[in-house]
Amino acid sequence: TKSRARGYCTAFEPEMDARYVEQQKLKADLRDAVENKRLHVDYQPMYKPDGSRIECCEALARWIHPEKGTIPPNVFIQIAEEMGIISGITEFVVERACRDCTTWPNHMSVSVNLSVQDLRNADIVAIVCAALEKSGLDPARLHLEVTESSIMDELVTVRAILADLRSRGITIAIDDFGTGFSSLSYLDSLPVDIVKIDRSFVRNIGEDSRRFKLLRGTVNLSRELGLKIVIEGVETKDQLALINAHRCADYIQGYVFSMPVATEAVIVLSDALRRK
Ligand code: C2E
Ligand code: CA
Ligand code: CA
Ligand code: CA
Repeated sequence: TKSRARGYCTAFEPEMDARYVEQQKLKADLRDAVENKRLHVDYQPMYKPDGSRIECCEALARWIHPEKGTIPPNVFIQIAEEMGIISGITEFVVERACRDCTTWPNHMSVSVNLSVQDLRNADIVAIVCAALEKSGLDPARLHLEVTESSIMDELVTVRAILADLRSRGITIAIDDFGTGFSSLSYLDSLPVDIVKIDRSFVRNIGEDSRRFKLLRGTVNLSRELGLKIVIEGVETKDQLALINAHRCADYIQGYVFSMPVATEAVIVLSDALRRK
């Protein structure tokens, strides 16, 4: 539209105009929702590989727009990052997650996603500590997920912040592992405890597929380094059987066991397992 616009009056480009107005409205609505805490949090359980127990749940932010309905988190998280208001979402989610976790069985932890922007700002330590204090949750029950690419971004700052959080008893997980450019050799120098292997490694896996060989290699090396392994996006019984036949995972997260659910449902799911 740029070249077309050049010859005409750029102020009246109806299509572009409408899209721009809509985007501005969405941003204003998001700001409003964050300020007034009109977001929700769902939780997706991570199971022991045999499915006998829920060990941890990942907190996933939800925004139900009054007119547009559910907006996917990867959409509104990115907008929030562009607007510079992501720390408001992180604060909301970590607070809610810590509080909800105190209502779950004691052996269960909760895992909260941090954005790349959270890791550039040492305020994140105060935000997380405030949520722990307010809820009274044992820091050993809080996990924080950081993506591989966000760690590589500003290695020195990020490493210091993660080391600080970890020294308080919080567990650090690397999210979406295998999608970025970091080599496994970095893992050893980072203050992390858990590796979450991205679901792209699970899609279309077969015993002899190259993807599965990559997955097994990553798992073996991570274990050598003393890290625990979560495999994400496990959808089918066949995928689960293959992963378990090779003892690839310490925890499994995916539709094969459960979709993200409300906090009340976490308790129901875990009670049902205990009664088995
Ligand atoms: P993620 O951290 O990789 O979260 C896992 C996503 O995979 C979730 O999507 C979950 O519903 C989906 N998923 C789980 N199991 C399966 C499966 O078996 N198959 C498939 N195809 N998908 C599965 P969701 O909730 O839409 O979240 C998308 C992304 O939005 C998250 O990816 C994360 O990057 C971001 N996000 C969500 N909540 C937050 C938050 O509170 N803070 C930040 N910074 N990012 C968040
Ligand atoms: Ca995550
Ligand atoms: Ca823990
Ligand atoms: Ca992930």
